[in-house]
Amino acid sequence: MAGPDRPGTPPPGEASRRPPVSPLRAGLAGRCPACGRGALFDGLLALKPACGHCGHDLSAADPGDGPAVFVVLILGILAGGLGLIVEMRAHPPLWVHALILLPVIGGGTVALLRVIKGLLVCYEYHHDAREARLDRDPEP
Ligand SMILES: [Zn+2]
Repeated sequence: MAGPDRPGTPPPGEASRRPPVSPLRAGLAGRCPACGRGALFDGLLALKPACGHCGHDLSAADPGDGPAVFVVLILGILAGGLGLIVEMRAHPPLWVHALILLPVIGGGTVALLRVIKGLLVCYEYHHDAREARLDRDPEP
């Protein structure tokens, strides 16, 4: 299923024969970006090496640190806002803040990481994103 230029990229013409897959739906559901049916994750956060339904090579999918950056930014705003609201309304001791915020941050991190990682992998495939490289041959 791999094309000549990039592992995981379908050969020319193959992608047009597939049914269109919404990267938003596939990413949110944790499904294969190529067929939208096979599972994307092997366990909680690890990507499968290949789709179990269509055989699409998922080993080339690499969102890098992208999901973690989004999770830090989103949860930072939410947890910071929640902490401020609780402090302004009730002035609780610090252990109450910890009791409220630690589960929100811990659970939110895992939940958001999975969703955002799925979205980034599916959009990466949809837009044929890849590492930057020069078109010209390297000089000897
Ligand atoms: Zn698939």
